[in-house]
Amino acid sequence: MIAVIKNDATKQQLDNLIDWFNKQGVKVHLSQGEYCTVLGLIGDTTKIDVDLLNGLDIIESVTRISEPFKKANRKFHPDDTIVDVGGVKIGGGNFEFIAGPCSVESKEQVIEIAQAVKASGANLLRGGAFKPRTSPYDFQGLKADGIEFLLEAKKVTGMPIVTEIMSAEHLPLFEDVDLIQVGARNMQNFELLKALGKINKPILLKRGLASTIKEFLMSAEYIMAGGNEQIILCERGIRTYETYTRNTLDLSAVPVLKELSHLPVLVDPSHATGMARLVKPMAMAAAACGADGLMIEVHNDPPHALCDGAQSLTPKAFDEVAKKVMRIREVL
Ligand code: PEP
Ligand code: MN
Repeated sequence: MIAVIKNDATKQQLDNLIDWFNKQGVKVHLSQGEYCTVLGLIGDTTKIDVDLLNGLDIIESVTRISEPFKKANRKFHPDDTIVDVGGVKIGGGNFEFIAGPCSVESKEQVIEIAQAVKASGANLLRGGAFKPRTSPYDFQGLKADGIEFLLEAKKVTGMPIVTEIMSAEHLPLFEDVDLIQVGARNMQNFELLKALGKINKPILLKRGLASTIKEFLMSAEYIMAGGNEQIILCERGIRTYETYTRNTLDLSAVPVLKELSHLPVLVDPSHATGMARLVKPMAMAAAACGADGLMIEVHNDPPHALCDGAQSLTPKAFDEVAKKVMRIREVL
């Protein structure tokens, strides 16, 4: 249920109302936007008398929310959420590039790529240290060393870093990571989501391989329900009957997610297509349909990459993609 508060309500009236809700056993999520104040009520609201509320001086309107996601719901928080990742703002009209290799392979590699993508306009550095691989015989990532090398690259370039977590047990290693990624394969790892709900750090949540938009938002809700509301969503393609591309990039998810939720939405055209030559057109399309940024894999030597070389751009190709995307942004 949400209660929209009249603009002339006093702080005392608002506090009294919140107090009353708490006494009814419901938690209140306060969203004070530029144009309106919205109280989101979480818990069992069945006993709350809507007519009684509507009769109060400070209430503009009361609506029951039918969707199971509450904190992630745009109705709870009409303004766009802006997530601050080490000083880089994502959402609310900002547009950011996250770029870097699929996997961190060495200190030199990640520093070289970081410097190149930064020069092309990327403001966050990605790199996998713990890799979720389909085969147990494939490169599994450099783990703690990988995170160390990302931190070295951060020291050199000043770029905040993004890397994937696969288990809550690894959280102590992520202390200095600026943005923790939950990959597609772990989107419904509910114990991991609950653990991330208890920390105070932004989370990049990628859509599961075969997840609906509602399931995706319910996973965001898991993290938010624990108290961590700094979530960035990432559409990275879903499984369909099409096998030509690695996945099928569901771009309609971008406007749908932005309609249903206030959370920022990024697009990852690298994992969505699996082919370097498709990254540019899909990156441009993502910018055109309202994405808040892009996550793109860039490698200094794609043919020899230890993971996802086929979809990785060279730094030069990334530069071109970034320029084209910025031109789309200008047109918009
Ligand atoms: C990744 O970003 O490196 C990754 C593994 O992506 P996804 O979880 O979307 O497959
Ligand atoms: Mn990858």
